[in-house]
Order: sequence, then C-alpha cells, then structure tokens
Amino acid sequence: MIKTVVIDWIPDRNSKKSMYKQIVGYFSSKISSGDWTIGSKLPSQRSMAETFKVNRSTIVNALDELQSYGIIQGITGKGTIIVSNTWSIMISSSETSWGTFVKSGTFQENLNTIQVINRLEFEEGYSRLGTGEMCPSLFPKKIFQDAMYKVANKIESLNYLEGSGLYELRETIAARMRKKGIEAKAENVLITSGSLQALQLISICMLKIDSTIFCEIPSYIKSLKVFQSAGMKLKGIHMDKEGIEYWNIGKGLSDNADKLLYTIPTNQNPSGVNMSKARRKETYRFCQENRIPIIEDDAYGELWHEKEEYMPIKSFDKTGNVIYLGTVSKTFAPGLRIGWAVGPESVIERLGDVKMQIDYGSSSISQIILNEILTNGSYDKFLAEFRIELLERKNITIKAIEKNFHGLVKYNYPSGGYFIWLEFLEKINMEKFFNIAAKHKLLINTGNIYNDKENHGIRISFSYLEKNEIERNIILLKSCYDELINENSSIS
Ligand code: PMP
Repeated sequence: MIKTVVIDWIPDRNSKKSMYKQIVGYFSSKISSGDWTIGSKLPSQRSMAETFKVNRSTIVNALDELQSYGIIQGITGKGTIIVSNTWSIMISSSETSWGTFVKSGTFQENLNTIQVINRLEFEEGYSRLGTGEMCPSLFPKKIFQDAMYKVANKIESLNYLEGSGLYELRETIAARMRKKGIEAKAENVLITSGSLQALQLISICMLKIDSTIFCEIPSYIKSLKVFQSAGMKLKGIHMDKEGIEYWNIGKGLSDNADKLLYTIPTNQNPSGVNMSKARRKETYRFCQENRIPIIEDDAYGELWHEKEEYMPIKSFDKTGNVIYLGTVSKTFAPGLRIGWAVGPESVIERLGDVKMQIDYGSSSISQIILNEILTNGSYDKFLAEFRIELLERKNITIKAIEKNFHGLVKYNYPSGGYFIWLEFLEKINMEKFFNIAAKHKLLINTGNIYNDKENHGIRISFSYLEKNEIERNIILLKSCYDELINENSSIS
C-alpha cells in the first residue's frame, strides 16, 4: 500500500511570499527532512486545494514546479509520488534563479545519499553509525589546549607561509615517514588541506583526461567525484582477504593507455581490509613492471588495534612510482585540515605550485599547532590510547552485530581502522534501507556510496558513537532492517 503524506500546515495569507511559493517551500522541507519519504503519495489536488484554502490552479503551479525539479512525479494509476529528496530541493526553495548555474561547472555533484548524510549529520537527534570520525568525547582537549597556549606565545606574525607548507612541519613529517621505511626529506613533502586536497591536486595537475584510475571495490574514492570531475574514469578491482587482486589491474586496456592505481592498503575504507605484506610487495612490483603509478592513501595507517603489522607500499619504492598520502584527520583532528603528499621532488614542486595558486598554502595556525603536537610527544601518546579505545569499540560493535544479525550477515574482523563492512545475505534495496533508517533518525553509510554496482553492504563505523550508544544503535539498525524486509514481503 502506498502511504499518503499527512499535511499539518496551511499557507500564511499575510506573507509577502506567494501562496504557491509557500507551498513549494513546505513540500520541499518536508521531503528534505525525511518526514515525507520517497515513494509516498501526495493527496489529490482537490483535497490539497481544500486543505490549503487555495484555488486548484495554485496547487497545479506548485506541483509543476516540484515536478520540474524532479522531486515528484505523476504516475498513472498511482497519483503524485515523491521520487527524490536531494539537492534539487535546495534549489527549488532558493529565492534567486541560481538553479541553472548551480548545475553547471566542471566539478560534479556529490552522490545523493552523501548530500543527505552531510545535511542530516548537523541536524539534531540523529545517531551517526556510519561517520568516519573520532568520537567527539575522545578529542584530546588538554593536548590541544597546551599546544595552542605554547604556540600562541611564539607566533610573531601570521603571514603566508611557503606554499608547500611550514618547513619545520615538512621536516617533522619527513622524519616520521623515515620511521615507516619511506625515504623522504622535507623537500619530498607537500602539506595539503587534508589528503582530499592532495587527491584533487593530483587529479588536476598530473593526470590526463581519459586516464583510468583503478581502485578497490568498494572504495572511499567512489564516494568522491574528484577524479571523474577532472575527466577520468574509475574502475574497480575486487579484493580478497589479502587486499586488491592486482593481477586484474589494466586488463582490457592497451599498454599505452594512461592508468593509475589508487589504493588504501591499510585498514581500508570502507571494507576494513588490511593488505598483506606479500600482496603489498607484489602489487608494487606489478605496477612498477607495467608502469602504473600508485597513489597510496594511508589515512588509517597508524590505527592498528592489536599488533602493528604495517609497511606502507611506499616503503618499497626506490624509483618514485608511489605518491603517498597522509593525514591527521583520522588520528587527531579533521578540523585542522592538514594532510600531506610524499613523492619525488619534481612532483611535489608541481603540486605545490598549483596549490599556491589555489589557496596560498594551508592554514598557518593549523600547521604550527600540529608541528608542536607532533614534536612534543603528545601525538604518539594519544595515539597509543586511541588505539585501545578503538579496539574496545570494535569488540562491542562485533558483539552487538553477532547478537542481532546472526545468520543474516557476513563481515570481516578488521585489525585496525574505523570500519566493519557488513554484508547482508539477503538482497536489499539500499536506498530504501537508508530512508527507513533516516526516518528512525539513524544515519547509515550504505554500500552504494562506495560501489555503484549492486551490493548489499553497509559501512559500520565504531569510531564515532559513544561506547554506550553502540549496542542500542545496532538494535535500531536491526529493527530498520526488519521493517525493510517486511515492507518488501508485503509488496510482493
Ligand atoms: N582518504 C580516506 C581513505 C578517507 O577515509 C578520508 C576521509 N574520510 C580522506 C582520505 C580525506 O581525509 P582528509 O581530507 O580529512 O585528510
């Protein structure tokens, strides 16, 4: 049975805004907030005209406008159905006529699901079971305060820094890289505004249009449009327990085609897979032999939970074939917006030159504070504690999954990072699942974000919720799952 939405509002006759605009605004906000879900039906035009005390033509105008944005659709025999709940809603409620402009430009729009998540994350009352961030209560406030206090007394000016980043920070990072077996000096390090910016810089200043970027299936990079917006194609490669099946990279492409591998070998986002040491070596060798450059995204590299089993691919690299990306977003504070790229000097100079033209360098304050935290020992001390926290959270989450989803899912046991990739044995509609969960104020990162092919997984993050909130939210997830399954069986 298709649900008809409930209207609990009437337009304000004294408002300066026209009646039909008010109606468009009301419908948009109900749909975007998730109060009215995709698939539900609007009442008949006659009944809405009566409820709103307006002419039927006003209703027709409002519906036409909503239809032109792709939010609703008249379906023969069913009535007017809500078919989308995305950004188009924002455009429709805008007073100005930016609608045609906002869709142009070379950078592609975010995925619908991500747009909705990004918005709902900042609305009250939602539980964030998919968020790839540290739980706010774990933030090491004292370490941060001490560093702020110390650097506040040292800062003599806040002029622009070198575009490639604060030299001392580049030296500090180079020294940390050497501890991981990576040969690097400050000149090999570019400080970026998060590793996301490094990806963007690489995409706009080093890669050719039509290049193919190989990545794991599923992959974080699929959730972005960085490469696609620069005219490149993403091609997924399956993983087994040891990591990417590198022997499939480049299959079907000519030797001369421009290609590159983007990989998250350590504690992968979203699958949690940790590439084995042998697979890292083989992948490196394969790419080297086939002249395929590698971007190694090491965002979760330092977040092992149990024992350290970790060697960046970059540590095998003696010829500059790998660009390594690091960040403190997962280990300390994404709000600092500090990441780094490590590569041959020529590459770093090129990326630095473009970065300078884009933003004149990353935040000086963030760089100075981070250098203090990295050099005074507090970062590593915190990290050791954070790893223990993550281990505890992972175990609580796995226990709750076992209790509530036994026999319904398969999942991996991640040895590090933030995520469990939960795959449902039953084929489920991801969009419906997301909407049902959102209706119950639960935000989940469904698999379609990380893999556009059919998949039945979701990314569970055990880093963000408070420890004592995890089980309750896994129970809630189960009741959403039951609702989805019951809905499906009542339709067929
Ligand atoms: N890479 C991976 C694998 C990530 O998960 C993220 C954040 N979700 C990033 C890069 C971007 O991180 P940032 O720009 O904050 O450094």
